[in-house]
Amino acid sequence: MKSFDKSRQLFAEARQIFPGGVNSPVRAFKAVGGEPLFIERGEEAYLYDVDGNRYLDFVGSWGPMILGHAHPAVVASIVEAAKEGTSFGAPSRRETELGKAIRAAMPHLEMMRFVSSGTEAVMSALRLARAYTGREKIIKFEGGYHGHSDGLLSKSGSGLATLGIPESPGVPAAFAAETLTAAYNDLDSVEALFDRYPGQVAAVILEPVAANMGVVTPEPGFLEGLRELTRERGALLIFDEVITGFRVKRGGAVEKFGIVPDLTTMGKIIGGGLPVGAYGGRKEIMQLIAPSGPVYQAGTLSGNPLAMAAGLATLNELEKPGIYAALEDNAAALAYGISAAARKSGLSLQVNRIGSLMTVFFTSQEVTDYACAKTSDTEAFRIFHRTLLENGIYWPPSQFEAAFVSTALSHADVETTITAIEKAFAAVKE
Ligand code: PLP
Repeated sequence: MKSFDKSRQLFAEARQIFPGGVNSPVRAFKAVGGEPLFIERGEEAYLYDVDGNRYLDFVGSWGPMILGHAHPAVVASIVEAAKEGTSFGAPSRRETELGKAIRAAMPHLEMMRFVSSGTEAVMSALRLARAYTGREKIIKFEGGYHGHSDGLLSKSGSGLATLGIPESPGVPAAFAAETLTAAYNDLDSVEALFDRYPGQVAAVILEPVAANMGVVTPEPGFLEGLRELTRERGALLIFDEVITGFRVKRGGAVEKFGIVPDLTTMGKIIGGGLPVGAYGGRKEIMQLIAPSGPVYQAGTLSGNPLAMAAGLATLNELEKPGIYAALEDNAAALAYGISAAARKSGLSLQVNRIGSLMTVFFTSQEVTDYACAKTSDTEAFRIFHRTLLENGIYWPPSQFEAAFVSTALSHADVETTITAIEKAFAAVKE
C-alpha cells in the first residue's frame, strides 16, 4: 500500500484556506472518494507526489501537457523569456510569433486575440457573436463545458457533471434564460430551438469533439448539419477547441473533420502549461474587437511573454514529423489493451477515443451524448480510479472527463498501464 500521509496533511491545511481545499473543483477527488494528491513535480510522462510516489500521468493538467512535464525545450523557452522580463503591458514580439504559428495550423483564424484562460476566450467570443449578429441567445449542448462564465453553466459537463450540479447558484436568471441547451449529436434538437426562437440566436457553440462529458465524437453529418443550419438561420458557429486544438490534429477538429466555424476558442496546448486562451476567426468579425471596433475586451496579462514562450516552444515541438502519428499509435494501443482487458474480465464498457483523448465509460450502452454518458456506473469508476492510483496510474478523477495521452508516454508505459487496468477491472468485478 502506498502512503499518502504528506498529501493528507497538506490537504488538511489547504482546506483551511481554500473552499474544498482546492483552487478548481475536480482536483478535490470528490467523485472518486479519498483525497487529492499533492504533486511535487512532473517529469516527462510522470508525476511525483509529496510522499515520493510516482505515477504515469493521464491528466496532463487537463490537456495542456501534450509533451509531458518539464519538456526541456519548453522550460528553456520560458527561462529565456523570464530573463527578459515577465510582463510589460505593451506589445512584444512573441505574441505575433505565436499568433502566426497558430494561424499556420488553423488558417480560419484569420485574426485572433490572446486572453489568459479558456473561460475568457469563450466569454469574449460570445460577446463578439452577439455584437456581430445583434442577437442575444446562445445554443450550447448538454454536457458541453465552456468555462465558468455566467450563462454557460447550465447543464454543463466537466466539474459540474462530476459534482452533479445542473445549474450554478449566483447566475442571474436573466442570463441563464439567454442560454438554450440542445442534445449533442441531435440536429433536430438544435433545429427545434431555432424554430422556437426565430431571429434570436446569435451563435451555436460546441466542443466539436465533446470531451467534458467524457469523450464523445461527432456522428457523421452532425458538424456539417450545424454548419448548414447556422448559415441558414443567420447565426454564427463557434467551435470551442480549448481541448481539441493541436490535440486531435495539429489543426484541431477543423483539420480532422473539414468543417470550418465562424469563430474558434482556444486554450490549453497553445499556452504550453502557462495561462493562455485565444479566440479568433473571420477577419470581418474579429475587427469588431476594440480598439479596431467597439466590442470591448482587455487583459492586464494578455499575451504574457512567458506564456507566449511556452506556447511557441510547444507548437514548435508539435511540428516535428510523425509526432501525431506516434501519439495515435500509443493511444490506440492503450485503448485496444483496455478493451481487451475489459473483455477478459467480463466487464461491459465503452472506450471512446479520438487520437490522444479517451474515456472509459462504465456502461454497456454506446455513448453518443450526455444522457448516455450518465448511464455510467460511477461507483465502478470510483473503484477503477482508486485501484489505478494504488498501482501508479494517475487517471482523471471523474467518469465525465477525458484521459490525455502525452508524447512522453512510451510503449513500455502503455504496457504498464494496461497491466494496472487489468487489476483495476478485477477490483471492479469483486
Ligand atoms: N472550453 C473547454 C472545451 C474546456 O475544456 C475548458 C476547460 O477545461 C474551458 C473552455 C475553460 O478553460 P479554462 O479552464 O482555461 O478557463
